[in-house]
Amino acid sequence: MASRKPLIAGNWKMNLNHFEAIALVQKIAFALPAKYFEKVDVAVIPPFTDIRSVQTLVDGDKLLLTYGAQDISAHDAGAYTGEVSGPMLAKLGCTFVVVGHSERREYHHEDDELVNRKVRAALKHGLTPILCVGERIEVREQGTHVEHCAAQLLAALKGLKAEQVRQVVVAYEPVWAIGTGRVATPADAQEVCGALRAKLAEKYGAEIADAVRVLYGGSVKSGNIADLVKQDDVDGALVGGASLDGEEFAKLCALA
Ligand code: PEP
Repeated sequence: MASRKPLIAGNWKMNLNHFEAIALVQKIAFALPAKYFEKVDVAVIPPFTDIRSVQTLVDGDKLLLTYGAQDISAHDAGAYTGEVSGPMLAKLGCTFVVVGHSERREYHHEDDELVNRKVRAALKHGLTPILCVGERIEVREQGTHVEHCAAQLLAALKGLKAEQVRQVVVAYEPVWAIGTGRVATPADAQEVCGALRAKLAEKYGAEIADAVRVLYGGSVKSGNIADLVKQDDVDGALVGGASLDGEEFAKLCALA
């Protein structure tokens, strides 16, 4: 098995202005000395309006944490009011961009085809997509969650070459676990993360599948991260609520 470095990415969602963003990044950086970054990659994913401030702080203080955006336009430029493009995010020094988050699928009606175009836009501009897949509670109750997530994964990667797939981070985020406090059990997380990796191996080969980081997301906290990342196919976490508290997020990263 490839040794995959865990990634903890904090999705701030629509929280914190740029002053608050600076304060939070400083708090995380203070609580996480350099030695932690040898064993875990840490990223913050603030709202667009905070990214320039985060960039200035990270560059100025030579911080080891990375950052990204919560969304990307499928277009490079043009008359797309309100959208933010890959070239803009790349210029801001973003490493990551979240694509296909369930909140965008639900509130902005993003379908698999658009998610696929956004994954391509990210890769085209040197950004690492954190591609979110996950089932709603009804799907889990029907017992078809593995097939559902695998279908979302393949649709989002449609048309990509194996070498492009290698650069993608996948996040399994069961919708019923997001922001609910109801975390999936480590076995639940492993079941789907393992099945997604098996699907990647079937389609793109074992070597690519071994290299891709598969995260779990949904009510992750410092109290449950250790058991989740003990699972063979869970390579870290996408963290929402708990990423807004600097001490808690740093603790969670240290335990990953
Ligand atoms: C998320 O929104 O990606 C998420 C995992 O949220 P939370 O940790 O709050 O459940």
